[in-house]
Amino acid sequence: MPDAMVATRASDERGTAQQVDVAVVGAGFSGLYLLYRLRKAGFSAVALDEAGDVGGTWYWNRYPGARCDIQTIDYSYTFDPELETAWTWSEKYAAQPEILRYLGFVADRYDLRKDIRFRTKVTEAKWDEKAERWQLTTDNGAPVSCRHYIMATGCLSAPKPPEIDGVKDFKGEVYFTGRWPHDGVNLAGKRVAVIGTGSSAIQSIPLIAEQAAHLTVFQRTPNFALPAHNGPAPSDRMSLLQSDRAGYREQARQSMAGVPYPQQTVVSWQLSDAERRERFERAWAAGDLVHILTQLWADQAVDIDGNKIVQDLIREKIRAAVRDPETAAALMPDDHPFGAKRPCLDTNYYATYNRPNVTLVNLRQEPIKAITASGISTNGRSFDVDVIVFATGFDAMTGAIRAVHPITGRDGKSLTDVWAQGPQTYLGLTVEGFPNFFMITGPGSPSVLSNMAVSIEQHVDWVVDRLAALRDAGFTTIEPTETAQAGWTRHMADCSMVTLHRLANTWYTGANVPGKVQGLMPYTGGVGPYRSICDEVVSRGMLGFKLTGPGGATQCNDGEVVRLQPDVRLVLNLLASLNLPPIESMGAIGARAFVNEFNKGRPAGRPIGAIVDGTLPVADGALPYRVYKPATPGPHPVVVYFHGGGWVLGDEQSDEPFCRDMVRRTGMMFVSVDYRHAPEHRFPTAAEDGYAATRWIAEHAAELGGRPGPVLVAGWSAGGNIAAVTCQLARDRGGPDIAGQLLICPVTDCSFDRPSYNDNAAGYFLTRGLMYWFWDLYCSPADRTDPRASPLRGNVEKLPPAFVTTCEFDPLRDEGVAYAEAMAAAGVPVEQLKAHGHFHSSFTMVDVVITGVSGRVQMAEALRRFAGLPEVSRDEPSPGFKISAAAS
Ligand SMILES: Cc1cc2nc3c(=O)[nH]c(=O)nc-3n(C[C@H](O)[C@H](O)[C@H](O)COP(=O)(O)OP(=O)(O)OC[C@H]3O[C@@H](n4cnc5c(N)ncnc54)[C@H](O)[C@@H]3O)c2cc1C
Repeated sequence: MPDAMVATRASDERGTAQQVDVAVVGAGFSGLYLLYRLRKAGFSAVALDEAGDVGGTWYWNRYPGARCDIQTIDYSYTFDPELETAWTWSEKYAAQPEILRYLGFVADRYDLRKDIRFRTKVTEAKWDEKAERWQLTTDNGAPVSCRHYIMATGCLSAPKPPEIDGVKDFKGEVYFTGRWPHDGVNLAGKRVAVIGTGSSAIQSIPLIAEQAAHLTVFQRTPNFALPAHNGPAPSDRMSLLQSDRAGYREQARQSMAGVPYPQQTVVSWQLSDAERRERFERAWAAGDLVHILTQLWADQAVDIDGNKIVQDLIREKIRAAVRDPETAAALMPDDHPFGAKRPCLDTNYYATYNRPNVTLVNLRQEPIKAITASGISTNGRSFDVDVIVFATGFDAMTGAIRAVHPITGRDGKSLTDVWAQGPQTYLGLTVEGFPNFFMITGPGSPSVLSNMAVSIEQHVDWVVDRLAALRDAGFTTIEPTETAQAGWTRHMADCSMVTLHRLANTWYTGANVPGKVQGLMPYTGGVGPYRSICDEVVSRGMLGFKLTGPGGATQCNDGEVVRLQPDVRLVLNLLASLNLPPIESMGAIGARAFVNEFNKGRPAGRPIGAIVDGTLPVADGALPYRVYKPATPGPHPVVVYFHGGGWVLGDEQSDEPFCRDMVRRTGMMFVSVDYRHAPEHRFPTAAEDGYAATRWIAEHAAELGGRPGPVLVAGWSAGGNIAAVTCQLARDRGGPDIAGQLLICPVTDCSFDRPSYNDNAAGYFLTRGLMYWFWDLYCSPADRTDPRASPLRGNVEKLPPAFVTTCEFDPLRDEGVAYAEAMAAAGVPVEQLKAHGHFHSSFTMVDVVITGVSGRVQMAEALRRFAGLPEVSRDEPSPGFKISAAAS
């Protein structure tokens, strides 16, 4: 491969800095598009790359079998429709030479090479406060002085050095997949060792095995691999693209992974075994990573049970492909959920282990002791080899950024120090204290969890548009605020609870590099949501950024861009997009019909032991109830449950997903009661029904199949109000015995002047207006201070132990907290969950608000404690790996 010409505009004198508006480090997918956009926006720019030509990843990774694992029609630039039609990919997954040719074609088409300095490594970067410019030091040619410094240095561009003693003693040949020689390597007739079984190894092993006399693969951790079924681009995808190119690309930009697939809505337990297998076989035959990661069932990436089904099906495939059972077992991943580590696409990977010239060494059983002059010795055996191939991966996400050292920002701060406890960024794009500094696909952005071509274009567009806007407004610096960055860090942590990525030790978390601080580095909230957040930052006046200009001009719109939990944000955005009329405008009958219709569209919940309906008598009528029983042998403690709905809406089935979920988590029986509703039955009917029902259920616990003795009460929203009132009435009226109360976002008081009523008056589904309406229908103003309506105004002494859940974005938040505090002050044992980023319905929207899981885990633990049941282990062993309770 001839080296491209080195850009001639650099000063030849090492001392004289090359002056540009923008310096870009890297000339891969990101750097090339940056140059194109910057030039079009009227900036002078230079790109610097250590490599001898354009291509980045595709310049360096030339090992046998290197190819992309996102279909190439998706893994391409989309910024210029003419470019799209000017290039035709030959394969579904193009190989490295073709992708490199494509990037060269792009560089030529837009004449980009003239602004690139090849074979030039940036070694240091320093912010010059006075000049408001970055000074970059290079190892070749002139330093660079620039207004803006953009690192397009790649997430997977810093190969990880081997961690094994003795590499230098080895007398044979040593290669790294990430730095493969340009003129190829002849492995014919040689004894080859491959260390590592990540993507690069899985792509190269079948081809190396075909050449080598013998191949020994040293595996520490097996990965899931799926057949690529490479060939021409699939006709269904091609016709989708060709029939509406713009729409196809837009769908990719708004999708979760950057590839236009729809969101799956069906969950695993709604499908039969046969249906699941059929979906799986179809995905297996499709040979498409994003398809199998997103299209099987909606819970595969977020729920450990939904995920385990996929894992088992893949293990079955491995067992069928590999003849030797011991080798097959060693190749089966068992320490991480499917997709929590990047799965690999392969061609004949598993079948390669059936070849007589291939040996798998399981390093979990016999770790490598050393590399010697003649080969590799484990603690059991010695393997003489001629060639060692290290396929040991990269110091991902931060490796190439931190390799420029030091990067010195404002007040002499070094990025290495600022990131000592892990990378801190705002949007994965910028860092507080480092003005005019940007990263493309940096830590904190979707990056490696996405089709990176889409993420790169989004980042580049956002950055260049901001630079142009900054210049046009007369500002010279831009930098995120501390608040914005801290908010992003918290949002990242919230997002990490949605998916199962956190349950694997991977390069996503830095676990592959000894000594690296661990934490999930890519943004798990999805490509489309991320894009909308970046856009929101702009539409809200550069929220979280400080801009400065000549003469002390400053603009700072401080704040956090996302305070909601990520899934709550999606739900609320969806609801807002539906433009529904306010519930209170529908009248009680209309509102009930609306809620019933709404509930019909949701899954009822996972299977439980049994569901039994009945009615129970009260003084002047009868109340329907529904019993939800666990699948385990009883009798179980009984929880009397009151649904939400503002005393007006709902019934014994309306919180079914929540009841089923809690039955599974607590191993207790829930009896959900349909108390009578307003306006037909105004106060105190609902309160008195709640008490009477609890009494009857306690007296008939055994008949219902429950454990006789004290019952527990629980309720959400108005149901929380009834549960709280029931506890007060039971204390005052001689029983029944109540062992504990779970109040979820309860109504406890008739006052509307607490801050949460104002802070969350609108926009979070339960509005102040709706609460006024509920109160008006239920209770006349004169009755509202009655403790049976406002239990906060009653006597809160000697009540059963309580667990009170409140949500940050709920008008009822403060009265829930006030009730918990009042009980605690009166000596009642109280635990509180103040759920940050959640809204009133977070915990009852079971299969939608995934981040509600950990809250329900805590509620279930509390109920078990109240009932005197033993704690459920948070780390239950499951076949293969430990389940974290938060993920269960
Ligand atoms: C084998 C392999 C397969 C992949 N397949 C896919 C895929 O199918 N789909 C997908 O979305 N992603 C894939 N990726 C990820 C891939 O890295 C990105 O898709 C994309 O190529 C990144 O482009 P980039 O320009 O941001 O970074 P890179 O391509 O990594 O380019 C960064 C450049 O910066 C240069 N550089 C770094 N530090 C310095 C410095 N200090 N001074 C000068 N130059 C420097 C490097 O030399 C490099 O050329 C794959 C990665 C690998 C390794």
